[in-house]
Amino acid sequence: MSISGGIIDCHIHPNADLGSTPEETAETLLRYADRMGIEMMGLSLGPIFHPQPTEEQIEADNTFNANIIALHPDRFFGYANINPNRLYHALSEISERIENGPFIGIKLWIAMCCTHPNLDPICERAAELGVPILQHTFLRPEGNLAGESSPADLVELAARHPDTTFIGAHTGFNWEQGAREFADQANIVADTCGGDPDMGFVETAVRWMGADRVLYGSDAGGRSFATQLAKVHGADISDADKEKILRTNAKRVLNL
Ligand SMILES: [Zn+2]
Repeated sequence: MSISGGIIDCHIHPNADLGSTPEETAETLLRYADRMGIEMMGLSLGPIFHPQPTEEQIEADNTFNANIIALHPDRFFGYANINPNRLYHALSEISERIENGPFIGIKLWIAMCCTHPNLDPICERAAELGVPILQHTFLRPEGNLAGESSPADLVELAARHPDTTFIGAHTGFNWEQGAREFADQANIVADTCGGDPDMGFVETAVRWMGADRVLYGSDAGGRSFATQLAKVHGADISDADKEKILRTNAKRVLNL
């Protein structure tokens, strides 16, 4: 199928093996993105992943990603990395990196479970600025990591903040359960990134959440664009729904 305009990948990372400078990393990502028809990619985290990042690590990663965006503002956008355990710093990074640009969302990984009250002022700022929060959500068979949020945790947070939009990353990894848990919480959309290209992932997300609430993401460089796109291209849904997932939902949710 062809869509009008390029594909938007809402969830990638500038992993160290892609390059050691913003220039090299951008060049590697663009080489593969061009092959796959991907027009824009959303950056978060940094070359090395820090489960409990210091203020210095947060600032370095945000600057690395801002530099990639400055090189190719038509191809990359970004989410401000913050650590809710360092709340004052988190709020100042939001002001500095979103209010003053170039980031258009907030990324939360595993520094703190998202049900914690420290998330409340962050969600209020996101609503004020009109930007979404990309929250890592996961369900590990062996039990989640310390500070890692489940889909149910995100539902609890999103219910406290109905004016904030949340992107539930990985649809919870266990996407059969994640899509069901997100279904009734209308201010959560889900991304399809990471994991293996399982049959049924996208169909299940669409069945429970509706095609307007599902966004394509890859988790590149940890995963390839091709395997992650296969989840959408191979899904038994209409071409109109695929176009929403590959492009138009991201434009709306991220105000691109
Ligand atoms: Zn990721």
